[in-house]
Amino acid sequence: MTETDAQANPDLRNLATVNAAMADAARLAMRAAAEVSLTIVSKTIDAGRLRPLLDAGARTFGENKVQEAAGKWPALRADYPDICLHLIGGLQTNKAADALRLFDVIEVVDRPRLAEALARAIAAGPPEAIRTRAMMVQVNTGREPQKGGIDAPDAAAFVRTCRETLGLPIIGLMAIPPVDEPPAPHFALLHQMAQEMGLPRLSMGMSGDYAAAICVGATDVRVGSAIFGPRG
Ligand SMILES: *Cc1c(COP(=O)(O)O)cnc(C)c1O
Repeated sequence: MTETDAQANPDLRNLATVNAAMADAARLAMRAAAEVSLTIVSKTIDAGRLRPLLDAGARTFGENKVQEAAGKWPALRADYPDICLHLIGGLQTNKAADALRLFDVIEVVDRPRLAEALARAIAAGPPEAIRTRAMMVQVNTGREPQKGGIDAPDAAAFVRTCRETLGLPIIGLMAIPPVDEPPAPHFALLHQMAQEMGLPRLSMGMSGDYAAAICVGATDVRVGSAIFGPRG
C-alpha cells in the first residue's frame, strides 16, 4: 500500500487519528504510550474492508459474536498468522468451546456457569486446539440488569474462584459503563478494583471515551465507530 492509498482510505486515516489521540492521552496521564493497546472493534465490518488495516500493520481486533468471528477470521488468520482476536460480547455457555478455539483473549467471563463451562472445555482439550491464552472478568459497574458482567461487590471472590479453583488465566477486568452516565467514575472504580486484585490489564473505553479511560489507567481500549463510522 502506498502513502496515497493510505490517505485515500478513510478507515486508515481514522485509525491514525485514534492512535495519535491515544498517544496524547497517555502522555497527559504520564504513561508510556506502549502501555495502552488498541483493540479495533470489527463487528459488522466485512473481511475485505479489514485487509487494508491488516496490510498497514493492525493486528488486534475485537468481535462481539462467536458466529460472526468464525465466519470472518480463519481466512484472515491464514494470511496474517499473528492476529490477536478478542471476544468482547456476551458468551453463551454452549459456545464456550468454540470461543476457546477462535479467540486469543476472552474479555467477557462474567458468571460462575460460564467460568465452569470454559474450565470444562479447556480440560476436554485437545490442548493444541485451545487458542485462548488470557481472559478478563467483565464487571457490571452500573448494575444494569440488561448488561452482562458480575456485580462489583462480587467480583473479587469471582476472580479468585476463576483463578484458583478453575485455573482460568484471568489477567484483567473489563467494563462497559452505562451510556447515560459520565464514564469516569466507572473507569476509576474498575481501576481501583484491578489494583486491589493485582490484575494488570484493564479493558475500558470506547469511541466516545477512550481518552478519558486511558487517563484513568486503561490498558486496552475498544474502538469501532471512531474508525469505521457509525454501524448501520
Ligand atoms: C461495539 C463495542 C465497542 C465499540 O464501540 P464504539 O463506540 O463503536 O467504539 C466496544 N466495546 C464493546 C463491548 C462493544 O460491543
